[in-house]
Order: sequence, then C-alpha cells, then structure tokens
Amino acid sequence: MSRILIIEDETEIADLERDYLELSGFEVEIEHQGDVGLKRALTEDYDLFILDLMLPGMDGFEICREIRRSKNTPVLMVSAKKDDIDKIRGLGLGADDYITKPFSPSELVARVKAHLARYERLIGSGIQENDVIEIRGLKIDKTARRVWVNGEEKNFTTKEFDLLTFLAQNPNRVFTKDELFKEIWDMESIGDIATVTVHIKKIREKIEFNTAKPQYIETIWGVGYRFKV
Ligand code: CA
Repeated sequence: MSRILIIEDETEIADLERDYLELSGFEVEIEHQGDVGLKRALTEDYDLFILDLMLPGMDGFEICREIRRSKNTPVLMVSAKKDDIDKIRGLGLGADDYITKPFSPSELVARVKAHLARYERLIGSGIQENDVIEIRGLKIDKTARRVWVNGEEKNFTTKEFDLLTFLAQNPNRVFTKDELFKEIWDMESIGDIATVTVHIKKIREKIEFNTAKPQYIETIWGVGYRFKV
C-alpha cells in the first residue's frame, strides 16, 4: 500500500485530503507543522508528499528543496494563490505537480495516482533518473545536456554547456581562467584563456536576468569566476 504524508496546517483541508485518499486505498499521515513534517519526510519511508506552501515552522518552498536534496519521491505542492504556483514553478524546486486551492478531491486523487504510477514505473524499470542540477530558476539536465532558465529552454554550445555545468557542480569555489581553460578545453587545442571570458559572457546572456548584476556566475576581479548558490 502506498504511504502518503500530507504536510498541511489547515486541519479541515488535511482531513478532507486524507479521507478521499484513504477511500482510494492509500495509507495517509498528516503533519501540521512544517519543520516536523520535513523531519518525518526525510527519516521515514513515504511514496508521495502533499505539501502546503504556507506552514508554521518551515514553509513549503524550503521543505521541497530539502526533500529534493536526498529523495526523488513525488511532491505535490498545494497553494491558495495562483501567483504562488507561478512562483514555485519559477524557482525550479523540483516539485512534480502544483494544485491550487480550492481543488476537487477527485482531481487530487487522480493526480496522486498518476504520480505514483509514474514513479513506480521509474523505480521498477531500473532506469536512472536523469542527473539534474537545479539552482533557483536554473535547471541543468546533465544526462540530456539541456538547460532551462525559469522554465524556458536555452541552447548552449558544447563548451558553454561544459563550462556552466562544471561551475554549477562546484559552487562557491573560485576558479581562475587558467583552471577553467584546462578543465574544459583540451590543452592541445588552439585557444587561450580569453576563450573563457568569451564563453562566460555568452553563458551569462542566456542565464542571467541582468548580465551587469549576475546572480549565478560572479566575477571575482583579478582572480576568476565563482558560481554563487
Ligand atoms: Ca497553510
């Protein structure tokens, strides 16, 4: 039997969700407090999480982010505001679905079933999930070599992709242009460290909202670059 954890502070909503899910044969537990909910989510074995956004203790954004650090379990986020749903999508937290309150219980059950089925197929097939890096609105799928910025896919050349990925998977570390050149370009190839500068500029044009104030790749004057997390 699939086990579901609902993290929701409004008792009536939580009970309603539980009643419908139990009728559909799921084992359901409720936690009203955000931080306690996260602890249970991380230490116990659940097949799916239903997560409210505004919660006492810790909000749904943070909980989702923390769950995704160690688990691929489906996460359905629930919010009263359509605006919040857009915000969650933009943040690229790794939630699998978003539902706006008020929702019909049958819609919730249908979505839960769909996500559980998809997740079970994934686990059962032994297919590895793609290796994905998500940092704020930036999503890098290393397996598929694809990049999205706030949900919109951007095209990268091979070297741009390699450079961005290398920086993103080594965050908060400063690399000199020399180090980056050695890492990404074959030293036998023609080129010099100015190539690094050119590529950083191109990457910024694709991922930064304002290239003059980069939120991802910082220039450390006189040293090199650092990917900020
Ligand atoms: Ca709430």
